[in-house]
Amino acid sequence: MINRFGKTLYQLFFKDYTEKVWGVPCDEIPAEWGAQRIKGVSIRKAIEHAIQELSKKKTKNQGDIAQKGTETSLIEKFFYPKLGPGQLWEEVARQVQEMGGIIHMHCDVKHIYTEDNKVTAITAVNSQTGEEMKLTGDYFFSTMPVKELISGIVGDVPNEVRDIASRLQYRDFITVGILLRKLSFLDKQTGEWKPLKLEDTWIYIQEKDVKVGRLQLFNNWSPYMVKDPDTAWVGMEFFCNETDDFWKLPDAEIAALAIRELEKIGLASIDNVLDSTVLRVEKTYPAYFGAYEQFDTVKAYTDKLENIFLVGRNGMHKYNNADHSMLTAMVAVDNIINGVTSKENIWAINTEQEYHEEKSGAETPVAALPERIPSFKNLYGISHGTKH
Ligand SMILES: Cc1cc2nc3c(=O)[nH]c(=O)nc-3n(C[C@H](O)[C@H](O)[C@H](O)COP(=O)(O)OP(=O)(O)OC[C@H]3O[C@@H](n4cnc5c(N)ncnc54)[C@H](O)[C@@H]3O)c2cc1C
Repeated sequence: MINRFGKTLYQLFFKDYTEKVWGVPCDEIPAEWGAQRIKGVSIRKAIEHAIQELSKKKTKNQGDIAQKGTETSLIEKFFYPKLGPGQLWEEVARQVQEMGGIIHMHCDVKHIYTEDNKVTAITAVNSQTGEEMKLTGDYFFSTMPVKELISGIVGDVPNEVRDIASRLQYRDFITVGILLRKLSFLDKQTGEWKPLKLEDTWIYIQEKDVKVGRLQLFNNWSPYMVKDPDTAWVGMEFFCNETDDFWKLPDAEIAALAIRELEKIGLASIDNVLDSTVLRVEKTYPAYFGAYEQFDTVKAYTDKLENIFLVGRNGMHKYNNADHSMLTAMVAVDNIINGVTSKENIWAINTEQEYHEEKSGAETPVAALPERIPSFKNLYGISHGTKH
């Protein structure tokens, strides 16, 4: 980050936020993570992009949604399901079931049985009924955290692999939804709270004196995400570990702290809060420190299991975004169809050339996703914002 942006910008915009996200000093985080996060962005690119956007606004040329050649982190417009990302998966489930597929909901995979370098079966427990089932299959795709996958394998797993996987680390996260009558800001001259209009989807909070790390303004993702257009849903994000005292606080205390902080950073007065909700998300981020440096040993072991494909984010212990995660599963299916036995092209997704050499302007497979899944096209509206 310092190499690309200089020390001042690093300290203003990266250091404290990144330390909030990971809970460790930046010098303990490998550059590999930073590189994935900012891809080909540099100070020169950011300035060039800002000037281009300004001239587009002047000529009212909003450009085309594909935004070919724009670095991922600088993309300002993209498809977004009207009711949020969950809507996409409801549609996927509907289509799978329509084609005769069976989806077992609320089932946790506990054991993975292996024999002769193949997975033969899994057992899963329904968390609502406690019922256990055993399922066999020709192929298996895993999105469960690698740590849990390896500990669930019944069979001959080298001790070193078990040991490394058991030490993989994650960062957890609590999001507090706050429903506001309106966004407002404190006019320091008059001491009054005044209406505030913001177009951002994410706001990164660098300030050290508040615990909140990031805000989402759900109205700006899609207006359909809010029932009453005169209200605003704000998501306040707190990065933590599930072992922290903060994680164990009662919901009401966490919500109260979030509301106090929202007022402190000057985005709403407590009088405008209509409702709140607290959601704890375990293993939000796979960590690139700790046992991660030995991850290749785990990968080499799972790669040898011929008919199981590790895909997605925690499934691969890799900081994949939603589009990369989908693509890993698609490439795994292509491999099966085409008889490709190496899994290297799946691992190569999101480690593509982008951060080794700057983009040539070619459209990436990720940008082509909506084209690969034409039946989803109707689901999307267009959102403006920074991609995460
Ligand atoms: C706060 C936050 C913001 C994000 N914002 C963006 C964004 O703006 N854009 C973007 O592209 N990406 C974003 N991402 C990343 C995106 O959410 C992930 O890349 C994507 O969800 C990963 O897909 P996945 O299928 O691997 O994992 P998930 O979506 O987490 O799905 C994994 C599934 O596996 C299931 N599972 C786990 N263990 C078991 C088990 N033992 N048995 C059975 N099932 C199991 C889980 O229940 C879950 O349904 C964000 C992530 C976070 C946390």
